[in-house]
Amino acid sequence: MVTRPHEAHPDEFNPWLHVTSLIEKAGELLGLDEGMIRRIVTPERILEVAVPVRMDSGEIDMFTGWRIQHNTSRGPGKGGIRFHPSVNVDEIAALSADMSIKCAVVNIPYGGAKGGVKVDPSNLSHAELERLTRRYAFAISPMIGPDRDIPAPDINTDPQVMSWIMDTVSMLAGHNMPGVVTGKPLAIGGSLGHAGSTSLGVTICTIALLKQLNRSPQGERVVIQGYGKVGAPLIKLLSERGMMIVGLADIHGAIHVPDGIDHEKMALHFSEAKSIMGYPGSEEIHADELFTLPSDIAIPAALGGVITDKVAETMAASLMVEAANGPTTGEGAAVLTSRNIPVVPDVLANAGGVVASYFEWAQDLQGFMWEGELFRQRLEKTMHDAFDYIWERHDQLNVPLRDTALVVGVERIAEATELRGLFP
Ligand code: GLU
Repeated sequence: MVTRPHEAHPDEFNPWLHVTSLIEKAGELLGLDEGMIRRIVTPERILEVAVPVRMDSGEIDMFTGWRIQHNTSRGPGKGGIRFHPSVNVDEIAALSADMSIKCAVVNIPYGGAKGGVKVDPSNLSHAELERLTRRYAFAISPMIGPDRDIPAPDINTDPQVMSWIMDTVSMLAGHNMPGVVTGKPLAIGGSLGHAGSTSLGVTICTIALLKQLNRSPQGERVVIQGYGKVGAPLIKLLSERGMMIVGLADIHGAIHVPDGIDHEKMALHFSEAKSIMGYPGSEEIHADELFTLPSDIAIPAALGGVITDKVAETMAASLMVEAANGPTTGEGAAVLTSRNIPVVPDVLANAGGVVASYFEWAQDLQGFMWEGELFRQRLEKTMHDAFDYIWERHDQLNVPLRDTALVVGVERIAEATELRGLFP
């Protein structure tokens, strides 16, 4: 079922077709009728915007951006904004659907949305990045708002970018609107605990899965693809719990460190070298070798579509936790299932970020800031409860964790859709 035009080349991995096939499969497992499945699959709103930016040279460059609200039956749209040269409408649509499922899986009162601009921000000066962000925020402003759709950081966007979005929308409205975006700095309505929240959720899911498999975190060897907002704090959190990071990759390449990476030394090295490469005592490897390194746990924490059937066939780890969004292709997932490699899917494993966003938003709406400890306790409980529930249903359904999470997500969206009925 294809419910919107797409640009896919038949041989290319198309994230939109992938996610819709997963939703359809879940809908069929639940016995939903065809009309309901089609309603859940189809994005509610797709906005494409032109983003003209005056460059420092004085010339004007044109960029294209999108904001997509996939499903808002359970609450306002929620999802990040990414700035990346590979962004396209299919990718953003797929990620918006992932957000609908993710928010339903962790049972927070949101629908799913996503946005992005096709741009390589490493080519922009700070001032150009600000102008691009503000023009994009202006262009999508009719669609976003604390009760409608709440953006957040994603790939290559950070608290500074969120501040500019918050400011642009607030200036247009004529009053402060902190609840329009999450992942803000503390000084303007951000929240203690938001930074590193995705990594904390990934850590909780990793330990919970190990526990179910009667394994202890102590000495488990981990390979991580990505040393960004999620990968960097993750190394610290996993190391503190006794795990050893033996392989790491970033955009510059990959390294093997059989004795494990020291997170403090890596942070220091990275702040000077601006890359993980050259970390003292590491062996440089080909990026394709990362997941073949002798290891127990694989964690993709960068871009989508990287765990293909080929990568899955040679993966050395005996379990995988998806910190990135959409890292595994359909074929890759099938190989992992046939090899009995359990996978905590993205919509559960990396949901700590959006749960933290929910807490930040709730504080902004109430105008009442929580203490960091309360934030952390609630985040941990939400993630534990979600994992335990998915595990319980996985036992009953006897399908992989990914399919189980999809079933739970689609079930909750379908319930809300059914209760609300069809307007008019
Ligand atoms: N970008 C994050 C994600 O993909 C967070 C989204 C949010 O907080 O709205 O889950």
